[in-house]
Amino acid sequence: MMDIKGIYALGSDLYIKTDSFFGKIASELAFKKVLNIDKKMSAFRDDSEVCNINKNAGHREVSVSEETYYVIKRAKEFNKISSRFDITIRPLVELWSKKLKENKIPDINDIEKAKSLVNSDDLVINNNAIYLNRKEQMIDLGAIAKGFATDISKDILKALNIKNALLDFGGNLYTLGKNKSDYWQIGIQNPFLNTGEIIGIIKSTDESIVTSGINERFTKIGDKKFHHIIDKQTGFPVENGIMSVTVIDSSSLDADALSTTILLEGLEEGIKIVRELKKQAIIITKEKEIFITKSLLNRFSNTIDFQIYEI
Ligand code: ADP
Ligand code: MG
Repeated sequence: MMDIKGIYALGSDLYIKTDSFFGKIASELAFKKVLNIDKKMSAFRDDSEVCNINKNAGHREVSVSEETYYVIKRAKEFNKISSRFDITIRPLVELWSKKLKENKIPDINDIEKAKSLVNSDDLVINNNAIYLNRKEQMIDLGAIAKGFATDISKDILKALNIKNALLDFGGNLYTLGKNKSDYWQIGIQNPFLNTGEIIGIIKSTDESIVTSGINERFTKIGDKKFHHIIDKQTGFPVENGIMSVTVIDSSSLDADALSTTILLEGLEEGIKIVRELKKQAIIITKEKEIFITKSLLNRFSNTIDFQIYEI
């Protein structure tokens, strides 16, 4: 029997599946670390480093821990790959989440104002200090922090000599070792159906599998669904024909940031990025097409007859 331990952090339910008593102890230590990461990087906690950066926008730079600095530095790198991936998106994210909670769509004036605050070039990083150039600018590590936390947790398990485990951090997976001498079998979510319904299975070991989808977290107003990944050019939840993107990579941080980036960029640009960076990905479109990189196709077995295209 596998033991499953779970906590709530970084806006998600997080689980670690292990096959031993020591695995359980190690998972507890990993979760302790994740709670510490949440404490530093959450945009919701008043006392987090991220909130401190946001509160001091246009005022002064804020010294942060090495970990927060690293995650922000990596986020800036992804912004160079695609300017649509922008952690200064927070004013728009906050506006949408506030309005959607009231079952409303934000006013266009409010969207324009929030949009004008989003610009990663105003996020200055230097020597473990972070500064936002303008008042009311805010950052949000929601698209990357879970990946970082997954990597660190996996490192903790490995350092404690845990050979086999499955980390499931709310859509961010890591397959450590094997599942009872066999590969881990990871179901890829069918973005058209409820959680748990899949389009196929990937055999996996020692890698991270991260999915970003527009059908994961959303609010319905009338017939329309509004999700949480925002296009800073329109100021609206991104809509470009992609339903979901799965990225498979040795680094969960990279897979997390990239899956969101590809989703933001759309099919054509997304495929370009996958090819240029030589990454592994599965993109599912609204037309029920599956675009998948060659090496993944070799270990993917589909359970549904969507049209498959090789990237
Ligand atoms: P999830 O957190 O549901 O697994 P993602 O990894 O795709 O999904 O991250 C979505 C989160 O990223 C949002 O909740 C928000 O905090 C943040 N975000 C939204 N739009 C952007 C954007 N354009 N660039 C960077 N981060 C974004
Ligand atoms: Mg992401």
